[in-house]
Amino acid sequence: MTDAAPPSAPLRLFNSLTRAAENFAPITPGIVRVYSCGPTVYNYAHLGNLRAYVFTDTLTRVLRWKGYDVTHVINITDVGHLTSDADAGDDKMEAAARAQAKSIWDIAAHYTEAFKSNIAALNIVEPSRWSVATDHIAEMIAFATRIAPEHCYELDTGLYFDSTTVPDYGALAGGHDDAAHARIDPVAGKRHASDFAIWRKSPPGEQRQMEWDSPWGKGAPGWHLECSVMSLKYLGGTEHQFDIHTGGIDHREIHHPNEIAQNQAFNCTSHTGANWWMHNNFLVDRGGKMSKSKGGFTTLFSLIDRGVHPLAYRLLCLSAHYRSELEFSGETLGAALTRLKRLVMAMEGLKARAEDVTWQSPDRDFLLSNLHPKLQPIADAFDAALSDDLMVPRAIPLLEEAASIKKVPVDEKLCLIAGMDMALGLDLLNLTRADLRLTPKDATLTPSEIEAELDRRKAARADKDFATSDAIRDALAAQGVEVMDGDPLGWEWRLNLD
Ligand code: AMP
Ligand code: ZN
Repeated sequence: MTDAAPPSAPLRLFNSLTRAAENFAPITPGIVRVYSCGPTVYNYAHLGNLRAYVFTDTLTRVLRWKGYDVTHVINITDVGHLTSDADAGDDKMEAAARAQAKSIWDIAAHYTEAFKSNIAALNIVEPSRWSVATDHIAEMIAFATRIAPEHCYELDTGLYFDSTTVPDYGALAGGHDDAAHARIDPVAGKRHASDFAIWRKSPPGEQRQMEWDSPWGKGAPGWHLECSVMSLKYLGGTEHQFDIHTGGIDHREIHHPNEIAQNQAFNCTSHTGANWWMHNNFLVDRGGKMSKSKGGFTTLFSLIDRGVHPLAYRLLCLSAHYRSELEFSGETLGAALTRLKRLVMAMEGLKARAEDVTWQSPDRDFLLSNLHPKLQPIADAFDAALSDDLMVPRAIPLLEEAASIKKVPVDEKLCLIAGMDMALGLDLLNLTRADLRLTPKDATLTPSEIEAELDRRKAARADKDFATSDAIRDALAAQGVEVMDGDPLGWEWRLNLD
């Protein structure tokens, strides 16, 4: 036994503001305040969107694992996000409500619940607060009223932020991102391409489902305003500055530079509102199934319907560093599922041999203290990997090593794995082999029917009746079940994911 203390490597996090990894220190010692741009609830989240929340969950889990108290806010965007990603086009919520002939409030409630159920299925810890944009309209108007005299100008279409009135506009995007702004549909009268709407007036004669009175007429807030208002309200404290703001990499170009500009205007300083701005890279699908607005995309629900356990998708996300692109395909997902199966089977073996229940303790310090001398270096390397800008892909092999290392008491291994999983969130203490066998929605066979067919096939093979054995295999394949003779995991069959 050693007396090494729990996680102590200095945490370094990449900051998009400086484009460098920096030693992390929160504003208030011991407490970290994190804001994550949330989903726009006009449709289901696609798998790419969900990668963004697996990333924020990894971040907040690691912060807690390192001993910080974390306050985490995720917003729900139910107004203001336009179809053109800028200042023209329709509000995504209004468009969805029209297309489905429903009220915006029903649309928002439905997709918010769907999103929360995805979050739960991925074992993502619920944020301390979900903050809904339309609950904060009065505060958005107050914010805009404060910054308008020095930073905004009014046009027939709305109130616009003059991006030249703050220092270094667009620094987060690496300077003015002319290419990104060139893609924005022009708005007549806008002084600069990078100016953006703070408040959009309802077009004359058009009644919107969502509109509110304001000093600039009836209308709705611009999308960027909500995140400034809610992040500073719940996390900014008296200094209007908090620790970490997250979002997908697309937000680094327009949405977050605009939030920063608003925050600077509000604070009358060059402070951006958050000390760290962190961005996850994209999940890419060569089949083009990662566009929420185009539809036809892959959701977590559709994976579950196909019989894939959602935590296999979580493990797929964890297998790439959050700042790298990650390719999604049946193959990469299948590999993640196999890896998860291996982990779950190793855990089942260890749990069956456990002598006590110390490893079920929820106390991370207890689990990670006084480790066996063969486990301590693994724990140290794991801590070093997570502390190096959340290098989870380097941490997972260490978890696998802890599960398979020889000549270490089983309970001590389980304690370390339980401690590691607090940071990874793979639910390894609870997940069973049976849990991983989800029945696809359109399955023509249940798992027990498949097992029965396999038994019949085994009997045929024992009788050297290879014609019957092959026919059974082909019949299963026709129903999407691949028979895996000699599978080293003893898994025997799997569903075809392509
Ligand atoms: P939205 O619901 O469209 O507002 O997006 C929710 C989050 O998903 C944002 O942080 C986006 O930046 C992020 N996001 C969108 N597409 C992807 C993708 N393909 N991969 C990873 N993150 C994404
Ligand atoms: Zn946002």
